[in-house]
Amino acid sequence: MREIKKDKYFRDRQSTYIILGIHCAKCGKEVLLYQKDGRGGLKRLYLNRILAPESIASLQDKVERVKTLSMLKCECGVDIGIPMLHREGRLAFRLIPGTYSKHKEKK
Ligand SMILES: [Zn+2]
Repeated sequence: MREIKKDKYFRDRQSTYIILGIHCAKCGKEVLLYQKDGRGGLKRLYLNRILAPESIASLQDKVERVKTLSMLKCECGVDIGIPMLHREGRLAFRLIPGTYSKHKEKK
């Protein structure tokens, strides 16, 4: 699992975070672990907040352009997130409502 990041995005969001497990709504499998900064709803997953598995977390080191980012999928084939570039210039997956569930993990 990657380290929790406490950068300017974190500080801009009340310097608070939770760890969420994102699970597939179809098969129930955990797709990834995520550092959610600040309060409010979860609409997208920023690449640089994905903690695990390393196969997905490593995208933040490898992918620089939204065009070269693939859909976020569960192992069972369900699409969970659509590649997007957020206005802050951060690559992210826009979550598809109804395809996932989120579970708060212990820090
Ligand atoms: Zn699945």
